[in-house]
Amino acid sequence: MPRKVIVLSEIKDGSIRNVSFEAIAAGKTIAQGGEVVALLLGESVAHLADPLFHYGADRVIVIEHENLRHYTSEGYSQALMEVIREEQPGGIVFGHTALGKDLSPKIATKLDSGLVSDVTQIEASGEDFLFTRPIYSGKAFEKKRIKEGILFITIRPNNIPPLEKDESRTGGLEKKNVEIKDLRTVIKEVVRKTSEGVDLTEAKVVVSGGRGVKSAEGFEPLKELAAVLGGAVGASRGACDAGYCDYSLQIGQTGKVVTPDLYIACGISGAIQHLAGMSNSKVIVAINKDPEANIFKVADYGIVGDLFEVVPMLTEEIKKL
Ligand code: FAD
Repeated sequence: MPRKVIVLSEIKDGSIRNVSFEAIAAGKTIAQGGEVVALLLGESVAHLADPLFHYGADRVIVIEHENLRHYTSEGYSQALMEVIREEQPGGIVFGHTALGKDLSPKIATKLDSGLVSDVTQIEASGEDFLFTRPIYSGKAFEKKRIKEGILFITIRPNNIPPLEKDESRTGGLEKKNVEIKDLRTVIKEVVRKTSEGVDLTEAKVVVSGGRGVKSAEGFEPLKELAAVLGGAVGASRGACDAGYCDYSLQIGQTGKVVTPDLYIACGISGAIQHLAGMSNSKVIVAINKDPEANIFKVADYGIVGDLFEVVPMLTEEIKKL
């Protein structure tokens, strides 16, 4: 049965995040021919709507308000609840991002609805859907079904492919006025930990370093390899704790979860807490001088060797392609 689906769009550095296009594709699947409505919130954001149409949104609702300049769960939930009240959707999709993880339980509680978070795959099962999600730090997957009420899900970045971009796709843009008031949290200033280049959680290639990298300078060859592959640099907690890099790069149970097409682990032993953040990557390459290192158990390709020899060699070879 066709249902209307609302997809929350996220903006980063002045453009729509890729996960929002993936969320539109997820929305299309559960809409079953119904309308997919993308919601765009911010202070002055209407000009960002076009790509949402190009990736398949049938309609875009824009709410602009000075209190939406920065994300706050209160501000966003006021805007969202107003739209949900008016639109009465049968489905809601967020990205499983820091914002999505913060906001989705609040909205689900307000709606008295269920929520399946961190979905990596959607299968139609008759009139229902089966939502696959990792459990036990990625060691197993479970399939969940929402039997009644709104199909409310968050999707893990890099798992559900977006629709093919089609710039001829357009749709209705609707500006809506909503009063966003009485916020108990006011963001005065945002201080960014800058990670240059590609966003780690959305990168198609991640080159990660561990304690085996030995110093901050030791990360330089990894940065070069990431640059030639158009990827991002990540790290184990071992490397972060040792002060070789910033904690914003940490991947794992207490860091970021990544699912790139290619994950290259350099000088990382493969502790269970690290695997929790990367074991669902599509192809894993491990470079470690210890042939017994645990990382080789999850690796598709393993190179036993010194990363300071192997990584520059790889970079040079890839440059030739
Ligand atoms: P090590 O275990 O010291 O491994 C270094 C590896 O480098 C070794 O395998 C060695 O053979 C190899 N090596 C050394 N020199 C070279 C060289 N020249 N060339 C090639 N290989 C070389 N860890 C995370 O990563 N992320 C998390 O989110 C996380 N959360 C945690 C949460 C909790 C509650 C706890 C208790 C721990 C957590 N940890 C996490 C820490 C985790 O248990 C490990 O201690 C950590 O992952 C180890 O980092 P590492 O692999 O870089 O270092």
